[in-house]
Amino acid sequence: MEPRQVELDHLTQKEFSRFFAKVESGPECWAWRGHIKRTGYGEFWFRGHNIKAHRFMYLFWRGKIPRGRVLDHLCRNRWCVNPRHLDVVTNKENILRGEGPTAKNTKKTTCQRGHPYSGDNLYLRPDKRGQIRVCRQCQLDEKEAARRAGGVLPRKFKNGKQAQWRGRRARQAKPGKENGK
Ligand SMILES: [Zn+2]
Ligand SMILES: [Zn+2]
Repeated sequence: MEPRQVELDHLTQKEFSRFFAKVESGPECWAWRGHIKRTGYGEFWFRGHNIKAHRFMYLFWRGKIPRGRVLDHLCRNRWCVNPRHLDVVTNKENILRGEGPTAKNTKKTTCQRGHPYSGDNLYLRPDKRGQIRVCRQCQLDEKEAARRAGGVLPRKFKNGKQAQWRGRRARQAKPGKENGK
């Protein structure tokens, strides 16, 4: 079902303040401090109707949502109203994202090593195709390993393979092999 079209024309100062009083913004997900529905989405009472809080934010921040398009949370947190975490997709794309193989990746709540893709650990990096999720803990671990190796953080080759570490101590400082054999 397509959500009701809502226009935020002539938003009053009062309406604006009432909405943003319930937004807890930050460097990552912006929590909705108003009512959260059983479905997990934030809800905002606006001009006689309930409207999803993240939808309201998107309309305010970016403008109209084209017909036939729906909003998708890149961070997978339905209570999040950070407009940078919202992406406009077709209904079909949204379903694909939800169940298809591509979606399995987006749906994962942790990185490959099991760190949570949420809160401060989640970083959304802009990408040609939208945004990709990056685990901060893994980034830190990699940097730390490189530091211990006494070398620079190796670049990744275009084919995705990790370059060999430079530096004399690189070999013994590889992650997982710190204690040597
Ligand atoms: Zn978010
Ligand atoms: Zn990780």
